[in-house]
Amino acid sequence: MPESNATMDKIVSLAKRRGFVFQSSEIYGGQAGAWDYGPLGVELKNRIARFWWKEMTQLHDDIVGIDAAILMHPRVWEASGHVENFTDPLVDCKKCKQRFRADQIDPEKLARKECPDCGGELTDTRKFNLMFKTNIGPVDDGSGLIYLRPETAQGIYVNFRNIVQSNRMKIPFGIAQVGKAFRNEIVTKNFIFRTCEFEQMEMQYFVKPGDDEKYFEYWREQRWAYYAKLGVHMDKLRWHRHGPDELAHYAKDAYDIEYEFPMGFKELEGVHNRTNYDLSRHQQFSGKDLQYIDQDNGNERYIPYIIETSAGLTRQLLMVLCDAYEEQKVADKGNDDDFRTVLHIHPSLAPVTVAVLPLMKKDGLAELAQDIRQELKEEYSTDYDQSGAIGRRYRRHDEIGTPYCVTIDYQTKEDNTVTVRDRDSMAQDRIHTTALPEYLRSKIKSYKRV
Ligand code: ATP
Repeated sequence: MPESNATMDKIVSLAKRRGFVFQSSEIYGGQAGAWDYGPLGVELKNRIARFWWKEMTQLHDDIVGIDAAILMHPRVWEASGHVENFTDPLVDCKKCKQRFRADQIDPEKLARKECPDCGGELTDTRKFNLMFKTNIGPVDDGSGLIYLRPETAQGIYVNFRNIVQSNRMKIPFGIAQVGKAFRNEIVTKNFIFRTCEFEQMEMQYFVKPGDDEKYFEYWREQRWAYYAKLGVHMDKLRWHRHGPDELAHYAKDAYDIEYEFPMGFKELEGVHNRTNYDLSRHQQFSGKDLQYIDQDNGNERYIPYIIETSAGLTRQLLMVLCDAYEEQKVADKGNDDDFRTVLHIHPSLAPVTVAVLPLMKKDGLAELAQDIRQELKEEYSTDYDQSGAIGRRYRRHDEIGTPYCVTIDYQTKEDNTVTVRDRDSMAQDRIHTTALPEYLRSKIKSYKRV
């Protein structure tokens, strides 16, 4: 594997320079914990979401989608346990005013109430709820208390009955959702890794009690295979099983898939066996019968177990950028042009799939290139670039991960052929324009990560 040289600083700088991700409210000095996705970032984010959605719904016959509201009845969060338990233990240093998560400080220092940074005195540990509160309705006296959802999963659980009834779903089946979630995170570092506003891609799979272990293993395999399809370095992924002290009180078993980011191995997604906790709690708090009636088995009734796969979309985008990033030596002339920065993003995810480049603006080449772009537009996201030396234009597209550059030159005028440059190998093929759509289609289909 080539040395990638990806550091968080380089990723942040590329993301900003090329319009993937900007700091929120930058002209006002920025808003911590929030980021804006620029023209290329939103394309990449949408494509990752689409890739996941296809994997979960189109390729699994027994999974349907949902898009639930961010604002939910406040009782949902009592039933889910978030009001009571969704807390981080925090301490402040009275001297340097820094805030820390108590569970991340050396226990001896915590016992002595000694700041890990300046040695000053720490406050007592306080429990801090991560849910954002706001107010619905005209009066702000607490009666309209409402939360911004800290996870998308609850929107699925509360719709369990609706979906069984409206879509005649039979267990086992799943419900998938992509959407925003909000957490009042105190430590938001590492760019978009941990933010206060983020997006999740969650799937909740409902099974008969007793089948849960089998489906837990099944989903662990499926989720691992997903990352291979995504074309990332599989040797940078690993499993982390939750030990007894990490396991949520309702969970029977839990694994995280971790990725080796520039700052080390970190959680990418969780696969959890949540037992029948969620639906039991919602049944108890709502007073509605949430049992499943198994009509194929003498109307047996039970509260299903849930296997959850919970991934961060925005975190996965950061992973894709880090994994794709490479600085490559491509020549030996002793100047800046010896190196290129390239993003080896899977062609199905790349913000621009095909760049169309006339070798020269003049002699009708630009017009020819525009015609070819027009032809490709319907099927692919395209870009047109006619400014600067062709080598520079290739480099610009390497840097944003464009997998194919189609170049129109003087020979095109004679025999209707163009060159297609492959981002990863930099090799060029000469193709007849009529064969171009099929050529690109088969390249994308057979794409293998170098
Ligand atoms: P942590 O312990 O790191 O706070 P968690 O275990 O609470 O995270 P989950 O509640 O399991 O995380 O969330 C599922 C997924 O959602 C995570 O694997 C991650 O990809 C994503 N995620 C969670 N919190 C954030 C956040 N603050 N910013 C970005 N993504 C997040």
